Amino acid sequence: MTATIIDGKAFAAKVREQVAEHVARLKDENGLTPGLAVVLVGEDPASQVYVRSKGKQTVEVGMNSYEHKLPADTSEADLLALIDQLNKDQSVHGILVQLPLPGHLNSDLVINSIDPAKDVDGFHISNVGLLGTGQKSMVPCTPLGCLMMLRDHHGSLSGMNAVVVGRSNIVGKPMAQLLLGDSCTVTIAHSRTKDLAAVCRSADILVAAVGRPEMIPGDWVKPGATVIDVGINRIERDGKNKLVGDVEFASAAEVAGAITPVPGGVGPMTIACLLANTLTACCRANGLSEPKGLTA
Ligand code: NDP
Repeated sequence: MTATIIDGKAFAAKVREQVAEHVARLKDENGLTPGLAVVLVGEDPASQVYVRSKGKQTVEVGMNSYEHKLPADTSEADLLALIDQLNKDQSVHGILVQLPLPGHLNSDLVINSIDPAKDVDGFHISNVGLLGTGQKSMVPCTPLGCLMMLRDHHGSLSGMNAVVVGRSNIVGKPMAQLLLGDSCTVTIAHSRTKDLAAVCRSADILVAAVGRPEMIPGDWVKPGATVIDVGINRIERDGKNKLVGDVEFASAAEVAGAITPVPGGVGPMTIACLLANTLTACCRANGLSEPKGLTA
C-alpha cells in the first residue's frame, strides 16, 4: 500500500477535544452551556442508534442534550409545534430532526420550520442559499468533516481538480460548494455521467458519495490523488457482515496519495462536526467570536 491513511477516528477525537475546551471556556467565562435538541419520530433502528450516539457524544463534550422521541404516527402539526417550542427555547442552540421521517410527514416543510440559526444539520433552505452564495451559514456535517480532513492534509486546496461523485442535497451538492469555496475546480458526477472512470481519473481530490459498495476501483484513481470515501454500505462477505465504502479500498490505496478508510474515515467526523456546529450556533446566538478551525 502506498497511500497515507487519513484517520477520521483520531481526527474526530481531536475535534471533540477542541469543542470540549471551548464549551468549558463558555461555561467559565460566559455562564453558557450549549444545548442540542434531537427529534426522532418513529422507531427506525438505524436512526435510534445514531440518536443515541449523538446524545452520548453531546454530553461527553459538556453540552446539554435534549432528546425528543415521538411516536411514528405523530401528526405534522404536533411536530411543527415542538419545533416552534425548540426555536423559542433559549437553552437550545441546535435542533436536529433525524431523517428519514415517516412517509406522512413532509421533510422539506419540517426542516424549513427550524430557525436557520439553530439548523445544525445545515439543511434549511436559507443555509443552503447562504452556503451557495459564500455567506456565513450552518454547513452540513458530513461535507464539513470531509473539508476539515482535506484542509488538514493539504493546507490549501486552491487550484486542485475535485470530483464529487453524487449530487444529493445532504452530501454531494454541499461538498461541491465547499470545495468551490476553497477554490478547487469542481466537477459533480452522478448516475447519468458519461465515462465516469475518465472523470474520476481527472481528480486530484475524489469524493465518493454514492451508496454503492466498492463501485470505484483503484484504476479510476489518479496516482497520488486524495480519496475521500463517504459511502457506508453493509455487505455480506465470507459469511460475515461487513461495512465497506463506495471505493474499493485495497486497490485504491495502491494508487492514491491519501485515502479515508471505511469504517474509521468520514463516519466519525460527522457527529464531531454536529457538535462543532452546535458550539458555533451557541457562540453566534450570544454575539461571541466563533471557534477557529471548526467552521467552513
Ligand atoms: P443518495 O442516495 O441521496 O445519493 C446518491 C448519489 O449517487 C446520487 O446523486 C446518484 O445519482 C449517485 N449515483 C447513484 N448511482 C450512481 C452510479 N452508478 N454512478 C454515479 N453516480 C451514482 O445518497 P447520500 O448522498 O445520502 O449518501 C451517499 C452515501 O454516503 C451512502 O452510502 C450513505 O450511507 C453515505 N453517507 C455517509 C455519511 C457519513 O456520516 N459518513 C452521511 C451521509 C451519507 P443521481 O442523482 O443521478 O440518482
